[in-house]
Amino acid sequence: MHPKTFEKQIDFLISKGFQLVTLSQLDTASEDSDKRIAICFDDGYKNVIDYAYPVLKKYSAAATVFIITDFIGRKNTWDVNLAGIQYEHLSKENIQKLVDAGWEIGSHSVSHRSLRGGSEQELNYQLSHSKRTLEKMVSQPVHYFTPPFGNVSPRIHSAAMKHGYLNVCGFFPIKYYKTVVPKGMVLRLAVYRTDSLKSLERKLSGDKRMYFEVMKQNVINFCSNGTIAVNSLR
Ligand SMILES: [Zn+2]
Repeated sequence: MHPKTFEKQIDFLISKGFQLVTLSQLDTASEDSDKRIAICFDDGYKNVIDYAYPVLKKYSAAATVFIITDFIGRKNTWDVNLAGIQYEHLSKENIQKLVDAGWEIGSHSVSHRSLRGGSEQELNYQLSHSKRTLEKMVSQPVHYFTPPFGNVSPRIHSAAMKHGYLNVCGFFPIKYYKTVVPKGMVLRLAVYRTDSLKSLERKLSGDKRMYFEVMKQNVINFCSNGTIAVNSLR
């Protein structure tokens, strides 16, 4: 989305009295827990530090960014892009700058391969190698994992727990959003380029207007799985 749109959304959240925190801060108990939001960015693109970081800094807010460790400082050759544009990922120095500013780093796997259907060995490698690489780089524990393409299966979840992650973030079927969130899972709400301030408000409602938004994101996510199909043909 355009940086100006992002700024409008952040401004909107602040004006509604929300506090913007990292995922770990969201996890700690607080009296005003329901007024806290953890903004997260997947893939660790350089545009996070170029555009989102200055906006959040203005509001003294921090966020969480999920890194693909094999692509630190490299272009996004893992993605399918019809326009042929390749985006840069954050460098080591960029990541350190975010950490120094209070941001949190999570793992988004080693290579952004789909973790559904791969071997046990591959899944273990994607979880453990990325965690170790990031922890060594930023000298901070990495507690959060989000799988490529967003879907969390019970297999991915239990493997992540085994490798020492505290939580797995992702998209879940709507029933999870209607009940108490199971331990070790963070249910995300996606914000897309097409979202308006109205739809952002619906996502935060916690009632049936939010369920509508969750259904929408599950459809969009289902379609984005086309990337997996196209990649497997390359
Ligand atoms: Zn991703």
